[in-house]
Amino acid sequence: MGKGFFEVPIAVNEPIKGYAPGSPERTKALDAYKKMYNSTIDVPMYINGEDVKTGNIDTMSPPHDHQHIVGTYHKAEKKNIDTAILGALEARNTWANTPWEQRAAIFLRAAELIAGPYRAKINAATMVAQSKTIHQAEIDAACELIDFLRFNVQFMTEIYAEQPESTSDAWNRLEYRPLEGFIYAITPFNFTAIAGNLPASAALMGNVVIWKPSDSQVFSAKIVLDVFKEAGVPPGVIQMVMGDPIMITDTILASPDFSGIHFTGSTNVFKNIWQKIGTNIHNYKTYPRIVGETGGKDFIVAHKTANPKQVATAIARGAFEFQGQKCSAASRCYVSKSIWNDVKNNLVNDVNSFKMGSPEDMSNFITAVIHEGSFDKLASYIDQAKSDDNAEIIVGGNYDKSKGYFIEPTVILTKDPNYTTMFTELFGPVVTIFVFEDDHWEETLHLVDKTSEYALTGAVFSEDRYALELGVKILQNAAGNFYINDKPTGAVVGQQPFGGARASGTNDKAGSKLNLYRWVSPRMIKETFVTPTNYRYPFLG
Ligand code: NAD
Repeated sequence: MGKGFFEVPIAVNEPIKGYAPGSPERTKALDAYKKMYNSTIDVPMYINGEDVKTGNIDTMSPPHDHQHIVGTYHKAEKKNIDTAILGALEARNTWANTPWEQRAAIFLRAAELIAGPYRAKINAATMVAQSKTIHQAEIDAACELIDFLRFNVQFMTEIYAEQPESTSDAWNRLEYRPLEGFIYAITPFNFTAIAGNLPASAALMGNVVIWKPSDSQVFSAKIVLDVFKEAGVPPGVIQMVMGDPIMITDTILASPDFSGIHFTGSTNVFKNIWQKIGTNIHNYKTYPRIVGETGGKDFIVAHKTANPKQVATAIARGAFEFQGQKCSAASRCYVSKSIWNDVKNNLVNDVNSFKMGSPEDMSNFITAVIHEGSFDKLASYIDQAKSDDNAEIIVGGNYDKSKGYFIEPTVILTKDPNYTTMFTELFGPVVTIFVFEDDHWEETLHLVDKTSEYALTGAVFSEDRYALELGVKILQNAAGNFYINDKPTGAVVGQQPFGGARASGTNDKAGSKLNLYRWVSPRMIKETFVTPTNYRYPFLG
């Protein structure tokens, strides 16, 4: 920036629309949904500013109606990835030197496009592709993505303003350079906002990015790409490739110019990628930045003083919204014996009142899980619980994949705190509950801390301040996002930066400055105004 210390608009969270019956936003979203549902699209890759069709295609179907086809997408061959790498490096020459206010303007424009003309489209595409209810689509694809884009612009300017002290004879300037090389973004199926944010946050900081969305999210990823294009992201800055994740990843990680990965997905995939980066470490021109947000086994632990209705509501929403397919979803709960009956009655009533079906019927609270692999895995754990002596299903337990991948929201009660579903990430609408003795609060907190390898989100409920304080202390390392008397889901950009440690990720906190620091490599510039001409210091006499 040469000619002014520009100020960006102050970021505010995008208001969530209500979609009540009869509201204009509901009509628009439903119209967009029906239009998408009743037509087909063909999604090319986007490489070097060109739409690329290889003819090697897969079909796309809504999880709630898996025989219905809404389109096809093209899958990469190795040569397409090689072209994308060259294209990224070529684009970097200009993009990395583009003034920050131009980059900011592009992504602020993208936010406004989603808030306005693209809102119904991006929500409808997320309902079709990922079977989100309109509310879940709105808080993800519209609001969270808008928030990421707006807040990141503000955070970028705050980072640039962080400068070292200077003296009258030397001016110290810190320049936040983009990484040398290109970034690889791999995104999961479950949040359209994450799919947009992982490439956009790195690109905003001046990097060029090759983005590989999940196979199960290509339909809504296409809308994100359309927004980026219309907002003016130049060719080669964000490229979108689809296809065999192993071939694509191996090709990218083999490039000496690979300089960082922005990943969100499951733990084992991330560990595997980290291992490959380690194997290739001698080939890289720079140490790659490795940022990954991964799995969770998120807990709710309720003290005997907790309000049973609040606990039941937190479980109903925290475990079952979007069919439990949030990395933050509550999936193991610990409830004190004296409040258990009340919690149980409320929870069972709530779950029995859920309606399940297509997101097109907006009275449905539950829709389908993402794909057959997920359905079969969930069904097998439910069957296991039905036959195990130390587990009992107290509500739910049925499933049906004849039309869509529908799994009933299921609550398992176990007598064994180390029962398999107390530590395995299932990523679906299944929650397991362990009831503990009222006077075992401290032991239970230690149990919560030790039971799973993950440490993403968790919540404690109590009306007793000392009990809460003990929870905050003992569970210090058990969650990167810790909630007191609230459900463990629903982090808001700019308010609750999100991420976890242990097997849940590198905890670089998406939606905060901390994440953006990972996409810059600062250069310190010291300029001396009157340069010494004699090496001798006064002490030498
Ligand atoms: P996934 O790991 O199956 O896929 C994520 C991405 O990795 C996809 O793009 C996929 O194509 C790609 N991938 C799969 N195998 C790969 C391989 N061998 N090499 C390279 N890339 C590969 O995850 P998913 O089912 O899409 O998403 C659910 C998972 O994501 C859950 O574990 C959830 O906890 C996690 N998640 C975490 C966060 C977080 O912030 N911590 C947020 C959302 C999702």
